[in-house]
Amino acid sequence: MPINIFNLLDPDKRAKELHSKIKHTHTQSKTTTAVLNTEEGKVLVGSSEKSLRKEIREALEKHEIEAFGEGHAEETVIQNAIGLGLTGTEIGASRPICLDCEYIINENNIIAKTEFSGKPSQKRKK
Ligand SMILES: [Zn+2]
Repeated sequence: MPINIFNLLDPDKRAKELHSKIKHTHTQSKTTTAVLNTEEGKVLVGSSEKSLRKEIREALEKHEIEAFGEGHAEETVIQNAIGLGLTGTEIGASRPICLDCEYIINENNIIAKTEFSGKPSQKRKK
């Protein structure tokens, strides 16, 4: 199947949809979910936590892969894609993307479907 035929969802919509599955509202407000589409048709889904919450993991489809690791959700999905030899195309997140992640996204020639906050992350300043 030619590469361009993959019909991937808008990663911004998908990130928000998956993030809304988190049952605990406090957790929902404190964490971020990011979704990265790739040229290969696989989709990386990651959290600002080290791994996905069960509710999200259970909602993943066959072509969606859980990303693991430290750092922001956006960073985690990009790093995991690189590790798997996949080429990221479009990224989305459940909240506006911070300055640090904006830099990483641009550096990897990925298109952001979620707005940038234009600000450094609060968490990073601690
Ligand atoms: Zn960030």
